[in-house]
Amino acid sequence: MRVGLDFDNTLAEYDHLFANLAVETGLFAKSPGGKRDVRDQLRLRPNGEYLWRRLQAMAYGPCLDEAQLFAGAAEFLTACRDAKIEVVIVSHKTRFPACKEFKTDMRQAALDWMKRRDFFIVDGFALKSENIHFADSRSEKVQMISELKCNFFVDDLEEVFIEPGFPVSTGKVLFAPDQTRSSLPVKHCRHWKEIADVIIGQPAYA
Ligand SMILES: [Mg+2]
Repeated sequence: MRVGLDFDNTLAEYDHLFANLAVETGLFAKSPGGKRDVRDQLRLRPNGEYLWRRLQAMAYGPCLDEAQLFAGAAEFLTACRDAKIEVVIVSHKTRFPACKEFKTDMRQAALDWMKRRDFFIVDGFALKSENIHFADSRSEKVQMISELKCNFFVDDLEEVFIEPGFPVSTGKVLFAPDQTRSSLPVKHCRHWKEIADVIIGQPAYA
């Protein structure tokens, strides 16, 4: 049994980080809310797209460590470890940000984030470091998911599941905490506890 997971906004939660960055960078006196609110408000400004890209480059690079592991994800990963379910991570993440002002290697930042949260130690989540994959595009990501023959894939973006080439044999699990419903044939989960029920099929939580 092999389970594939997306990284950004599936394992790593950015709402707090973007809310803090919005204020720390002086863009807002008070944060307009989470990641989406910050983006939407910034895009209303004349140079909004640039400001948003700049903020993203900071969040996914030098400030990544402030991102949090989603509630319930640690219990899910521990349950997979105990049940000998192999976990692979497939992330659409370019090495360097689109905003050239920042030179942080975003893939290395993600690996460091995982390392600091005990992803790779036996007493932690015991993932194999070779099970972390980065793709340059969404189509490359879907090709990797297909080659890895994942029984399930968990992602926060519906677009991944409708990308041509997404394997029919892989169970689609949409993790969208703020979405009321999905029109796609996916299992829509709003909390990692639900994901555990779907994938592990037994209560992973006491
Ligand atoms: Mg994502």
